[in-house]
Amino acid sequence: MNTKEKDLQYIMHTYGRYDVALKSGKGAVAFDEDGKRYIDVSSGIGVNSLGYCDDGWVKAVSAQAATLQHMSNYFYSSQASDLAEQLCQLTGLSKVCFGNSGAEANECAIKIARKYSFDKYGAGRDVILTLKNSFHGRTVTTLSATGQEVFHNYFFPFTQGFKHVEPNDIDDVKNHIDEKTCAIMLEVIQGEGGVNILDKEYVQSIAKICEMQDILLIIDEVQTGVGRTGKLFAHEHYGVKPDLMTVAKGIGGGLPIGICLCGEKLKDVMSPSTHGTTFGANPVVCAGANYVLSVVANEAFLNSVEEKGAYLEEKLRALDEVKNVRRLGLMIGIEIDGDAHDIAAQCVQNGLLIITAKNLLRMLPPLTITKEELDEAVKILEKTLKSASKNI
Ligand SMILES: *Cc1c(COP(=O)(O)O)cnc(C)c1O
Repeated sequence: MNTKEKDLQYIMHTYGRYDVALKSGKGAVAFDEDGKRYIDVSSGIGVNSLGYCDDGWVKAVSAQAATLQHMSNYFYSSQASDLAEQLCQLTGLSKVCFGNSGAEANECAIKIARKYSFDKYGAGRDVILTLKNSFHGRTVTTLSATGQEVFHNYFFPFTQGFKHVEPNDIDDVKNHIDEKTCAIMLEVIQGEGGVNILDKEYVQSIAKICEMQDILLIIDEVQTGVGRTGKLFAHEHYGVKPDLMTVAKGIGGGLPIGICLCGEKLKDVMSPSTHGTTFGANPVVCAGANYVLSVVANEAFLNSVEEKGAYLEEKLRALDEVKNVRRLGLMIGIEIDGDAHDIAAQCVQNGLLIITAKNLLRMLPPLTITKEELDEAVKILEKTLKSASKNI
């Protein structure tokens, strides 16, 4: 059996895959098992922030794998404490908790929010407002948090205590806040929901309400974080500070990690045995994350992300078939006529690894992609859109 046949036989069918088996890659270029070359503007959904097999990242990860690959959380680890220190110093937040995925990081934030409220106000103040069209993960609780009805299916009963409000409608937030509300959770740019960039005024109003009523502001930066939008974290565009922030995808540079950070008033909420996970703070993963931060967390690099994003946006807008572009940094949603999934599949056949969000084409290129590679990506997209529009 070849790779595809084995996959179909032995792996549960929870993904609609493209018809490609990837084998290797370097930077923004990937190769499949037949040696065919692809430009990658998806980064494994914003994960490979430095592209495939960045030299420095490979070195950092390999060196740690050859030194000490894992220890339990009952021991101190310099890779983890260095990463935590870096993140706190860069964000002004106070403490971190390590896990392995975005969903887990959000679970952690939800637990901290509820425990803070329980400790201070007693039982019952446990409701978290989230936004319609949001995406917060695939565990039973983060599905509950996710404000899209399509996700609230089959797996009943879901975790209670989430209410979904209309994005960019501050009155809807106010109408849903009562004595039971303990937190508001949001992505400042809804990634899976279609690259919806929230209004600045709206996010600032929420932050103000949260501060006045001791409601915790949880910002999910799983997709938007670590340079993706041209700032280290996307909430910096909004001039707000979260009480809890979750980070995953891009921080690991390709290894599984999820981090929940909290501000000063929450730093002692969690105590031994209130939370944990076997692989959390794994030193190999943290070594990779430390390396990613050492590259991304500086002005020049972050400016280059926005500059390349603006360059790409201009090229995309020049295409007749592109109706609109939603973008911040290198987080890009492309509105087109026709079925985005079909177009994306044709792009892949034509040598461009691209993803979708709702009915948009979505690009999350490696932050290190070059302008020449962006040119090549746009060329393949243009060719694909043109031949697709001919077929309508
Ligand atoms: C991908 C994503 C998640 C879930 O992360 P996993 O690592 O897949 O669990 C949560 N929130 C946002 C905003 C995401 O984009």
